Amino acid sequence: MIEIINNIYYIEPSKEAIFDSAKYIIDTMSDDGLIIIDPGLYLNYFTKLRENSLDSKKINHCLITHAHLDHYGACYKLLEMNNDIKFYVHNADVNNFEEIVDEELSKNFYPGYKYSPVKVSVKVYDNQLLKFGDLEIKCLHTPGHSPGATAYYVEIEGYRILFAGDIGGSALEHSGGNIDDYNKSMCKLIEIEPDILCEGHEGPIRPNEKAEEFIRNCIEFNDLFHKAIEESPSDIQIWYKLAKNVYEMKDYSFALDICNHLLDLNPGNKKGIQLRNLIKKQNPPEVDFIKVILKRRDEYVKTKHK
Ligand SMILES: [Zn+2]
Repeated sequence: MIEIINNIYYIEPSKEAIFDSAKYIIDTMSDDGLIIIDPGLYLNYFTKLRENSLDSKKINHCLITHAHLDHYGACYKLLEMNNDIKFYVHNADVNNFEEIVDEELSKNFYPGYKYSPVKVSVKVYDNQLLKFGDLEIKCLHTPGHSPGATAYYVEIEGYRILFAGDIGGSALEHSGGNIDDYNKSMCKLIEIEPDILCEGHEGPIRPNEKAEEFIRNCIEFNDLFHKAIEESPSDIQIWYKLAKNVYEMKDYSFALDICNHLLDLNPGNKKGIQLRNLIKKQNPPEVDFIKVILKRRDEYVKTKHK
């Protein structure tokens, strides 16, 4: 846990889960107590709060960037601790937030995890201002990764701080994403020129030049990802470019997964073999997401055309 600036804290994703979100805590220094932005999947960070003299029972507000389980899975536990806590979710993500999550999906991505749904308290909308003590937080609807994806913007001590959720997440249609919306939303976030970009898994990225570079890299990744999964899944060149892009973003497990898929399609591919050797030097743990994603994509296309 680190204090990003006065009264704003970052807690890194838990290593217990394959996926877990970054969490951010704002101490409003008022009767509103603490705000948490995405509580993640597990509540195993309360000792860290205590070490920083923060009382977890004073988490009165929980702002959700988007309704994906790795970001909101711990909500029901927050509710158990504080019955008065308010959950803020964009209208377009309310259904996903309040329903029991897709069992098949959670089996693959969150093995062993059990969730019990909670109700949304405040449905947020684009440009809404939320007030907590002297603090004003602006909600920015940024669909693309999910229909109701929302970034929260605040200015504190002259810093422009953006809690942006999953900039680096996918924008695939079968998982509720939309690539055109995503591109528009990312441009909107670049225009804000945040000094500190609090990303949904990567943690805080600063200064502004780095934040902008990160967003642009994610746009490039998603363009390739969309082409590989949705537009031209048999195009070897696209899969190679995607593997290289993900390797350069230092996500070695995922790069290996993509490279393995490329070599399944085209076992003798020299550039692919070279790249896989390079990736393996980083000793990444093996994951198998591409197959799951492609399978779900196929099922989605089939039901869509029925
Ligand atoms: Zn997500």
